[in-house]
Amino acid sequence: MSTIDHTHDAAATSWVAGTNDHADFPVQNLPLGVFAPADGAPRIGTAIGDFVLDLAALSGRLPAEVRPALGETTLNTLFACAPEARRALRHAVFALLTDPAQREHVEPHLHAAADVTMHLPARIGDYTDFYVGIHHATNIGKQFRPDQPLLPNYKHVPIGYHGRASSVRVSGTPVVRPSGQRKPPEADAPDFGPCRRLDYELEMGVCIAGANDLGEPVPIADAPDRIAGLCLLNDWSARDLQAWEYQPLGPFLAKNFLTTVSPWVVTSEALAPFRIAQAPRPAGDPQPLAYLWDKDDQQAGAFAITLEVSIASASMRASGMPAHRLSSGPASNMYWTVAQMIAHHTSNGCDLNPGDLLGTGTISGPTRDAFGSLIELSSGGREPIPLPDGETRAFLEDGDALTLSGYASAQGYRTIGFGACEGVIQPAR
Ligand code: MN
Repeated sequence: MSTIDHTHDAAATSWVAGTNDHADFPVQNLPLGVFAPADGAPRIGTAIGDFVLDLAALSGRLPAEVRPALGETTLNTLFACAPEARRALRHAVFALLTDPAQREHVEPHLHAAADVTMHLPARIGDYTDFYVGIHHATNIGKQFRPDQPLLPNYKHVPIGYHGRASSVRVSGTPVVRPSGQRKPPEADAPDFGPCRRLDYELEMGVCIAGANDLGEPVPIADAPDRIAGLCLLNDWSARDLQAWEYQPLGPFLAKNFLTTVSPWVVTSEALAPFRIAQAPRPAGDPQPLAYLWDKDDQQAGAFAITLEVSIASASMRASGMPAHRLSSGPASNMYWTVAQMIAHHTSNGCDLNPGDLLGTGTISGPTRDAFGSLIELSSGGREPIPLPDGETRAFLEDGDALTLSGYASAQGYRTIGFGACEGVIQPAR
């Protein structure tokens, strides 16, 4: 597991202008991503304040063991390196950005973030979406089964399904309203047309590091080393398509038209100060099976991250109104830890590979101010919520801009952020 060291010192400062009180990217963060300058090809970089530092161009000043990986156009090879190599990279980048003597060598490789194009951080071989947000699972379950919202397996098994990797895109990708089969409960037969109940899901993405051979489960004690880092993830969902198609095999076309991730991977190393104890299981809940239970994981397997969602409709933006916050709540509202997700996913011998993506599932809090989807906020569409300009929303409408954001914070440490995970809804084609 990552440890706290000098790179987390709240007093550390960078010589890069305007970074030391930056909301997302002070020098304590150093997230990894892939960017392209206005006149260049994609390459690996880190975010520092409102700049992006080209790590590929500086690889000669960075540890030899990561140099080949820094020449790639995705983070997969870097995520295949040992955790010690990724920590050495963080230490070296931290030194370049804090030591004024390095400025003359480093400054030429800074790009204004506004001038670069961000790409997907990794080539995603596989994407799995879990369902560990227990308040979301309860809220959704209540809409179908008021008397038994959680199915009997929920507190024994980290539930998940295999998502679609081909349609994962980076923040900013337009969200084209999907079409599909719709069958409202009162209709006799389905028809085909644009989704009428388009929703978002507030999730965290887990970027996988390292690899396990097919047939070799990852013990839960080793799972933390398989977390390269976290990002924000929006599992766009077509609720009307989902309601008609989901039985008996689960989500399909209601989910795979697009999944959006934030461009920066906030590394396990950066998140070390923000690890917190997993919330105790409520009295009466079953003890998880041994392969899902680890004392260290229970003590430090959750994260002190606050997640927020905001919306700005087309008319709000046209009249210059600021985005409206839909929810804010802690990412610790997860019934299972990330390590438990990884241990479970590999418990049958399934191989997870560097750059694979896990979604946590929608993270909602117990109260409405922290619900992570519109289907929860609008009680299944029956109670549309008001927007500040007088509009209402049961589900997303064309022109809506939706933004996820997240911040890790802890007493005595500099708050670090994830940057934005955004999308604007476009009309169906
Ligand atoms: Mn989901």
